[in-house]
Amino acid sequence: MSRKESELAAQRRQVTSEAVGTDERRGDEQIRPSQLSEFIGQSSVVGNMKVFLGAAKERGEALDHVLLSGMPGLGKTTLAGLIAGHMEVGFRATSGPVLEKAKDLVGLLTELEEGDVLFIDEVHRISRVVEEYLYTAMEDFQIDIIIDSGPNARSMRIHLPRFTLVAATTREGNLTAPFRARFGIQEKLELYDDDEIVEVLLRSARIFSLDVTRKGAEALAGRCRGTPRIANRYLKRVRDFVQMQGHSQIDEGAANDGLSRLGVDPDGLDALDRRILQTVARAEGQAVGIKTIAVTVGEEERTIEDVHEPYLIRCGFLAKTPRGRVLGPRFRDDQADEAAPPSQAAPPSQAAPPSQGALDLEGRS
Ligand code: ADP
Repeated sequence: MSRKESELAAQRRQVTSEAVGTDERRGDEQIRPSQLSEFIGQSSVVGNMKVFLGAAKERGEALDHVLLSGMPGLGKTTLAGLIAGHMEVGFRATSGPVLEKAKDLVGLLTELEEGDVLFIDEVHRISRVVEEYLYTAMEDFQIDIIIDSGPNARSMRIHLPRFTLVAATTREGNLTAPFRARFGIQEKLELYDDDEIVEVLLRSARIFSLDVTRKGAEALAGRCRGTPRIANRYLKRVRDFVQMQGHSQIDEGAANDGLSRLGVDPDGLDALDRRILQTVARAEGQAVGIKTIAVTVGEEERTIEDVHEPYLIRCGFLAKTPRGRVLGPRFRDDQADEAAPPSQAAPPSQAAPPSQGALDLEGRS
């Protein structure tokens, strides 16, 4: 491995540990694809990226700025690292919530070298002032900073190397139009189909030296919401169950048994999904706002909107209306019945639709 390659590998390891939660971290570095050829599925995105990367490399230019959108766990961070690897350039990673002040961004920008990839995860969460700074950095590769204060304050122009901003977002719609327009390449990652998730699982199983039968992988894939991160997490947990039972193979029975023990039902819904449905079902036809759902199930609005709702809506279990959430056409009564164990369920008084005089968490009263 050349020095540049080992630096890149080290940077990618850093990204891995910054970008995923503690629970996911163990083993994740091992299974994250390290070459574009290992990136499963998303054929249209990968096909396009190969062309854009090849063309930029042939011209000896930095790649145009890239916006990757899609639900959490679909491979945006992975793809950003692969872009840097393919271009053989450095990789710096940060995330929107960290970039509060312009100086947070300036520090990062001034450390970049020619062609480097700057990856900003959750870019929809950067502050407006940082966004405006990024405009000129992206377009003109320069920024103006104010040095000194009071009567001595003066503006200084800093020229930046031609870098590539790769930004990831779960909420493309939250980006302002001028910001979005500055990305020459915009690609949306979609949920994976079951066959692709089987491939992801079998690849991870090979890396972990696990004996997973195809039927076992198919049983897992059916409940993974088309998301590689969830697939890998379930694989690791089912491995734990199998190991502690003194077995070595993950077959269909072991996969189904493990997932049931994790509270994942045959539709791929977990306890929180079912509590969301239960909350909406209790409103008996009235639309329920996101704030009410969040308080009732005890989860952040953002997590519900980014992680849980898209899948429930896609499956037809939930629907969004201008007044709030209602049950979708495919909702079944048993999905609300089998919600969280009583000890975790919200008290009925909280889950009930707001009555007259009650506090309306959606601010409608
Ligand atoms: P995101 O940034 O969209 O939240 P990540 O890039 O962190 O998602 O991917 C989550 C995990 O899923 C990674 O650790 C990686 O191992 C796996 N993964 C994602 N996409 C793929 C893919 N196309 N092929 C194989 N594994 C993938």
